[in-house]
Amino acid sequence: MNNSALTCPQCQSQKIVKNGSIHNKKPKYKCTECGRQFVEHPRKIYISEDTKNLIEKLLLEKISLAGIARVTGVSRKWLQDYINAKYKEVSREINVSKKNEES
Ligand SMILES: [Zn+2]
Repeated sequence: MNNSALTCPQCQSQKIVKNGSIHNKKPKYKCTECGRQFVEHPRKIYISEDTKNLIEKLLLEKISLAGIARVTGVSRKWLQDYINAKYKEVSREINVSKKNEES
Protein backbone atom coordinates (compact mmCIF):
# COMPACT_ATOMS: atom_id res chain seq x y z
CA MET A 1 0.00 0.00 0.00
CA ASN A 2 1.26 3.41 -0.91
CA ASN A 3 1.47 5.51 2.22
CA SER A 4 2.15 8.84 0.61
CA ALA A 5 -0.82 10.92 -0.48
CA LEU A 6 1.09 12.46 -3.35
CA THR A 7 -0.82 12.86 -6.54
CA CYS A 8 0.45 14.08 -9.86
CA PRO A 9 -0.95 17.59 -10.53
CA GLN A 10 -1.21 16.76 -14.20
CA CYS A 11 -2.64 13.24 -14.50
CA GLN A 12 -3.67 12.50 -10.87
CA SER A 13 -1.53 9.38 -10.88
CA GLN A 14 -0.12 8.29 -7.54
CA LYS A 15 2.88 6.58 -9.10
CA ILE A 16 5.23 9.22 -7.78
CA VAL A 17 8.95 8.84 -7.20
CA LYS A 18 11.30 11.13 -5.32
CA ASN A 19 13.52 13.02 -7.71
CA GLY A 20 16.12 14.95 -5.74
CA SER A 21 15.39 18.34 -4.22
CA ILE A 22 15.16 21.93 -5.33
CA HIS A 23 17.37 24.78 -4.09
CA ASN A 24 15.40 25.43 -0.89
CA LYS A 25 15.78 21.77 0.14
CA LYS A 26 12.19 20.89 -0.57
CA PRO A 27 11.93 17.39 -1.98
CA LYS A 28 11.12 17.19 -5.64
CA TYR A 29 8.94 14.47 -7.10
CA LYS A 30 8.38 13.00 -10.50
CA CYS A 31 5.31 11.29 -11.89
CA THR A 32 6.24 8.01 -13.55
CA GLU A 33 3.08 8.07 -15.63
CA CYS A 34 3.43 11.37 -17.49
CA GLY A 35 6.90 12.53 -16.43
CA ARG A 36 5.66 15.71 -14.74
CA GLN A 37 8.00 17.02 -12.06
CA PHE A 38 6.66 18.91 -9.07
CA VAL A 39 7.26 19.82 -5.44
CA GLU A 40 4.97 18.72 -2.64
CA HIS A 41 3.56 22.14 -1.95
CA PRO A 42 3.25 23.90 -5.26
CA ARG A 43 2.06 27.45 -5.69
CA LYS A 44 -1.52 28.02 -4.72
CA ILE A 45 -3.75 26.20 -7.14
CA TYR A 46 -6.26 28.39 -8.86
CA ILE A 47 -9.66 26.78 -9.25
CA SER A 48 -12.13 28.78 -11.31
CA GLU A 49 -15.66 29.53 -10.17
CA ASP A 50 -16.94 27.49 -13.12
CA THR A 51 -15.06 24.48 -11.84
CA LYS A 52 -16.37 25.00 -8.32
CA ASN A 53 -19.92 25.23 -9.63
CA LEU A 54 -19.40 22.01 -11.54
CA ILE A 55 -18.04 20.33 -8.41
CA GLU A 56 -21.14 21.41 -6.48
CA LYS A 57 -23.36 19.78 -9.09
CA LEU A 58 -21.33 16.58 -9.16
CA LEU A 59 -21.42 16.37 -5.35
CA LEU A 60 -25.20 16.52 -5.47
CA GLU A 61 -25.18 13.62 -7.93
CA LYS A 62 -23.30 11.55 -5.33
CA ILE A 63 -20.38 11.00 -7.66
CA SER A 64 -17.24 9.72 -5.95
CA LEU A 65 -14.44 12.14 -5.12
CA ALA A 66 -12.16 10.25 -7.51
CA GLY A 67 -14.72 10.71 -10.27
CA ILE A 68 -15.16 14.40 -9.57
CA ALA A 69 -11.39 14.92 -9.50
CA ARG A 70 -11.07 13.15 -12.84
CA VAL A 71 -13.86 15.11 -14.50
CA THR A 72 -12.90 18.55 -13.20
CA GLY A 73 -9.12 18.12 -13.25
CA VAL A 74 -8.61 19.19 -9.63
CA SER A 75 -6.48 17.07 -7.32
CA ARG A 76 -8.08 14.67 -4.85
CA LYS A 77 -6.29 16.51 -2.05
CA TRP A 78 -7.66 19.86 -3.10
CA LEU A 79 -11.14 18.42 -3.45
CA GLN A 80 -11.02 16.84 0.00
CA ASP A 81 -9.85 20.12 1.55
CA TYR A 82 -12.55 22.02 -0.30
CA ILE A 83 -15.28 19.69 0.93
CA ASN A 84 -13.95 19.73 4.49
CA ALA A 85 -13.97 23.52 4.51
CA LYS A 86 -17.42 23.58 2.97
CA TYR A 87 -18.99 21.21 5.49
CA LYS A 88 -17.41 23.12 8.34
CA GLU A 89 -18.96 26.28 6.97
CA VAL A 90 -22.50 24.91 6.58
CA SER A 91 -22.64 22.53 9.57
CA ARG A 92 -24.70 24.99 11.58
CA GLU A 93 -27.08 25.41 8.68
CA ILE A 94 -27.50 21.65 8.33
CA ASN A 95 -28.40 21.28 12.01
CA VAL A 96 -31.10 23.90 11.63
CA SER A 97 -32.64 22.42 8.50
CA LYS A 98 -32.70 18.91 10.03
CA LYS A 99 -35.00 20.20 12.73
CA ASN A 100 -37.31 21.67 10.11
CA GLU A 101 -37.49 18.42 8.17
CA GLU A 102 -38.65 16.47 11.21
CA SER A 103 -41.68 18.67 11.81
ZN1 LIG B 1 1.41 12.45 -14.06
